[in-house]
Amino acid sequence: MKETTQLIAAGRHPERFAGMVNTPVFRASTILFPTLADWEKTKKRRAADEAGVSTYGRFGTPTHHALEEAIAELEGGYRTLVCPSGLAAGVSALTALLSAGDHVLVTDSSYSPTRTFATRVLARYGVEVEAYDPCCGAGIASMMRPNTKVVYVESPGSETFEIQDIPAIAEVAHRHGAAVVMDNTWGTPLFYKPFAHGVDVTIQAATKYIVGHSDAMLGTVTANEKYWPKIKQTTYDLGQTAGPDDVYLALRGLRTLSVRLHQHWSSGVLVAKWLESRPEVEAVMHPALPSHPDHALWKRDFSGACGLFAMVLKPVSPAAVEAFIDNLALFGLGVSWGGFESLALPFTPGDRTTKRWNFSGQGIRIHVGLEDPHDLIADLEKGFAALARAQAKAA
Ligand SMILES: *Cc1c(COP(=O)(O)O)cnc(C)c1O
Repeated sequence: MKETTQLIAAGRHPERFAGMVNTPVFRASTILFPTLADWEKTKKRRAADEAGVSTYGRFGTPTHHALEEAIAELEGGYRTLVCPSGLAAGVSALTALLSAGDHVLVTDSSYSPTRTFATRVLARYGVEVEAYDPCCGAGIASMMRPNTKVVYVESPGSETFEIQDIPAIAEVAHRHGAAVVMDNTWGTPLFYKPFAHGVDVTIQAATKYIVGHSDAMLGTVTANEKYWPKIKQTTYDLGQTAGPDDVYLALRGLRTLSVRLHQHWSSGVLVAKWLESRPEVEAVMHPALPSHPDHALWKRDFSGACGLFAMVLKPVSPAAVEAFIDNLALFGLGVSWGGFESLALPFTPGDRTTKRWNFSGQGIRIHVGLEDPHDLIADLEKGFAALARAQAKAA
C-alpha cells in the first residue's frame, strides 16, 4: 500500500465508534468497571501487554491508542506511546535505555534540548555523555566502549542538516550490543522509515508536521519489539501522558500529512534553490539540493523532504541581519516548525564539539510553509533589499 493511502486508514476504527470517521476525543481519569471480575480481567489484559487496553486515563484513552497504533504502523515499529512533547519523548527513550555507569553517544547536531537533557540530567545520574561527528558513519566504531548502551542519531541534524548514514551506524552499534535511538522529526513517519534502516527506538516531535498547525505540543516514542518492554515501563514510570484534545489534533493532522508535506517539499526546494542563487547568501543547507554534501545519502534513504532547511548569509553588519529579518512579512520570527506558516530564525550552532561551524556570516533557519512559494520569494527579495540598504548605511 502506498504511504499516502496508509495515512488515511492508520489507527481508524469507525466500527468501534458508532461509525464515526474520526476516533472521538475521550476524556478520562477514572475508568469504571461493572464488576470486580471485569476489573481483574482488564488488568490481566494490560499486564499481558495487549494494545489499546486502559485502566486509568494516564495509560491513554481510545483517542491516544488511535494515534499510537497509527504512528507504529507508519514508522514501521512495534508499538508507540504518546508523550506530552517531542522533548519528553526523547527523555523517555534515553531514560529507559541508560543506567548509571553507561556511556551514550549523542550526535553533535542533535536537537539542543535533547542533548542538554543528556549532559545536564543523565550525567547527574552517572551516565557518561559523549558527542560524535554526525558524518562519521561506520567510523562510530572507534568511539564505542564496552559500556556504550545507546547511539543517539538525528538525521538530518538540527540547524546544520547533515544526513547520517544510519544503516552503517546501526550495524556497528548492534555489533556492540547498543541500541540506536533516532529523532525522526524531520523525516516524519512518511519520508523516513527508521526501523527499516536499523533503528531500534524513534521519537517524533509530533508538535511539528504531525499536528501541523502550530496549535499543540505532542511527542511519540516508538520501539521495536526488543526494546518495547523497557520503553513502555519507563515511559509509564515517568508519568508521561498527554491531553486527548491535543492527541485529537495530531490524528487530524496526520490525515493530511502527505499533501502538506509534498507541498512543503516542492516549495522548500524552490525557495532553497532561489536562495542559493542569491549574492547575499554564502551557503544553503538543504539535503534535497544536489549541492548538499550528503545529498546522495538523502536520496538513498529518504523518500522526500520537508520544508525545513538553513542558509548562511555572507558576513554583514548585525543591523543588516536585523533589517532582513524585520522586513520579512510572510516569514514569522519564532521557534518550532512544521506548521502551515513560514518562519525565519537566526541561529548559531552553539554546542558543537566535533565539528566546527566554519561560517562567519549569520545562519538563518528557514521553514517554508504552505503559502505560494513565489510570494515567499518576493518576500525574501524585500528582505534582501532592506539588508542592502542597512549594509550601505553602515559602510
Ligand atoms: C522541536 C523538536 C523537538 C522537540 O519537540 P517539542 O514538542 O518542542 O518538545 C525534538 N526534536 C526536534 C528535531 C525538534 O525540532
